[in-house]
Amino acid sequence: MNKKTKKHRSLSKICRSGIIRGSILIMRRKCGKENCKCNKDTDYKHTSLYLVQKTKGKQRMIYIPKSWETKVKGWVNRYHELYDAIEELSEESWEKLINREK
Ligand SMILES: [Zn+2]
Repeated sequence: MNKKTKKHRSLSKICRSGIIRGSILIMRRKCGKENCKCNKDTDYKHTSLYLVQKTKGKQRMIYIPKSWETKVKGWVNRYHELYDAIEELSEESWEKLINREK
């Protein structure tokens, strides 16, 4: 498989699996329930994940349910993969322009 084919395949895989721009924020908190572990153990806190996204100059945030965490992390990672792939292609085109190679 040549380099081009490989890139193309990973691109279609990325598109099928979903993609999202943003960063994952981990919130740590105490729930306030008297009998909870977080009340007894001073170091223990509940964690919940949020996706933070800057869009149209504004920041928005969405809660990621526990059962969605793996899925959303995958979406976020794929965004970075795709971004890196685009940057790589851009760099290749830059080189082509330098070398007048069509
Ligand atoms: Zn608690």
